[in-house]
Amino acid sequence: MEVEKEVITSASLDEANVIRQMPVALSNKIAAGEVVQRPASAVKELMENSLDAGAQEITLFLKGAGSELIQVVDNGCGMSRQDARICLNRHATSKIRGIEDLDSIRTFGFRGEALSSIAAIANVTLRTKRAGDEMGTEVSVDGSEVGTVTPIAAADGTSVTVRNIFYNVPARRNFLKKPSTELKHILDSVHVLAMANPSVSFRIVSDGNELLNFRASSAENNLDALSERIGDVLSLKSLHNLLSVRETTSYLSVSGFIGRPESVRRSRGQQFLFVNGRSVRHRYLEHAIFSAYEYLVPDGTYPLFAVFLSIDPRHVDVNVHPTKAEVKFDDERGVYSILRTIVRKTLGTAEIIPDAGDAIPLKGLKLDFDAIKKESYDGYNSGWSPGQVSEQLYNAPLTGLPSRSSEAGEELAPRESSGAGSSAELLWQLHDAYVLTQIRTGLVIVDQQAAHERILYEKALESLSDGFGLSQQLLFPRTLEFDAADFVLLQELIPDLRSLGFDLEQFGGRSIMLRGVPADMVAGDERSVLDEVLEQYKHFEVVEQLTGHENLARSIARKSAVKPGKRLSHREMRALIDQLFLCSTPYSSPGGRPTIVKLSVDELRERFNKKL
Ligand code: ADP
Ligand code: MG
Repeated sequence: MEVEKEVITSASLDEANVIRQMPVALSNKIAAGEVVQRPASAVKELMENSLDAGAQEITLFLKGAGSELIQVVDNGCGMSRQDARICLNRHATSKIRGIEDLDSIRTFGFRGEALSSIAAIANVTLRTKRAGDEMGTEVSVDGSEVGTVTPIAAADGTSVTVRNIFYNVPARRNFLKKPSTELKHILDSVHVLAMANPSVSFRIVSDGNELLNFRASSAENNLDALSERIGDVLSLKSLHNLLSVRETTSYLSVSGFIGRPESVRRSRGQQFLFVNGRSVRHRYLEHAIFSAYEYLVPDGTYPLFAVFLSIDPRHVDVNVHPTKAEVKFDDERGVYSILRTIVRKTLGTAEIIPDAGDAIPLKGLKLDFDAIKKESYDGYNSGWSPGQVSEQLYNAPLTGLPSRSSEAGEELAPRESSGAGSSAELLWQLHDAYVLTQIRTGLVIVDQQAAHERILYEKALESLSDGFGLSQQLLFPRTLEFDAADFVLLQELIPDLRSLGFDLEQFGGRSIMLRGVPADMVAGDERSVLDEVLEQYKHFEVVEQLTGHENLARSIARKSAVKPGKRLSHREMRALIDQLFLCSTPYSSPGGRPTIVKLSVDELRERFNKKL
């Protein structure tokens, strides 16, 4: 049967009478409400355009906290006369041409909505000139109708002037907050952009006063440049409290800085998270970072961080939010655990427990890190869980620096560093098997092998459950041949081995190709690592009837831990102790041997028959 096709024309639409095509000016005004919520949103959009245009210098002029005037001047690529004329139209964009581009968005803008939205709710004047052009162009617009286009003499780059924002949207204009609040929002937006672009200079002049002036960093290295910029943005006196982060996995890479635990703040104001250069709010990922600080910072305080995730745009969707502040990953859990692992590792390898002289009293809160260590060690005897330890500590009224409790301990302690009595630096290795360190009430002795096994075991379990062990690629992939029994076992274990960071695949016959090993594995003969882990696995299976993840984690830990006889550097000893106390059960090895033995000064006194 033939069905007559209806041809839709604008006339037929009008007849329908219910749904009507909106006048352009109205639809722009509605769209504007999504994109431009307050002066700060306009600032953000304009500055992002400047950054997209490759500007090296961006200056923002404000009057009346943006409600009278917002002007963004940049030295970016500028626009041709034609482009300048149409860029104020809705969906005019130079950044995306077809649907396929949506997957590979790298620039800030891409919807061509910002300029038209701003022009719908303010008086906008645009001046622009490309470096090669003789004359520039000026375009003035009121309420979406293109007004005038005039050739002008202008500097290279673009200047966009926005006057009387929301003049025609009284509801919004009347609901602007007091100038200091609007200014604060503007500063927040600029801080975020400045953080993500340390090689660009940013200046703000507000009612004639210079409010901010961040110079472009000249550092060659991105991380150095970033640290300078963080210092500017957060007004840090020194960069001492920043720990650098840099890790690459096959799924994403992470770089930036996190604050030492003692630099925590009472508010979240110093947290910056970026995905492919775009600032995002992502509660779940922020939590990944906080949780890595578990037991290291008091409740109700927040570590500072500026963390940049870089990920193939195909794995993230940035198009879920009008202001693009939210993103979705195709594997949120994966990103969570990678991030957490990396932050933990950074905290673990850094000297996270500062010596007593460093325990900086924060406002209204005094942290005594020596006491934290003491209590953690004491927890071993009293059977506290780490959670309880930190709670008791942080709720107890902590006094200032610990008093040196015993002359005896002081006198006897051989000093490795003569620095001002910093007990945290006192670390010795005994018989290349035990690490000794002083605590307030005496001495602790750490069994290096047992402690390292505990650390590796917990990391392995974590990797096995989240599937994201960090891998270290071999320079030359190796083909390994196995006997039939081992090969069957190996096939069973391949998915778990991958989770741990082994990069391997079957390679015909009974051989496999090994491309990478877990990043934690002691450097050495990577070839035998896999063999040894399998051997250990079989042994545990028979002797201790261990199975699955438990067995594999124990095997990995047993095979990769430092053995007695290995001389440790000062740094390694520090890392060992710090990481041990990041473990959930630091006081025993996975096999149940103690990792720590404590000798108190009281005990020593008794032994020496000294009257208490
Ligand atoms: P989008 O950034 O999403 O493309 P906008 O409305 O913000 O949309 O900008 C529209 C177009 O105007 C941009 O694609 C760009 O080509 C041009 N443009 C805007 N601002 C600038 C600028 N400061 N320098 C050079 N070109 C600009
Ligand atoms: Mg834009």
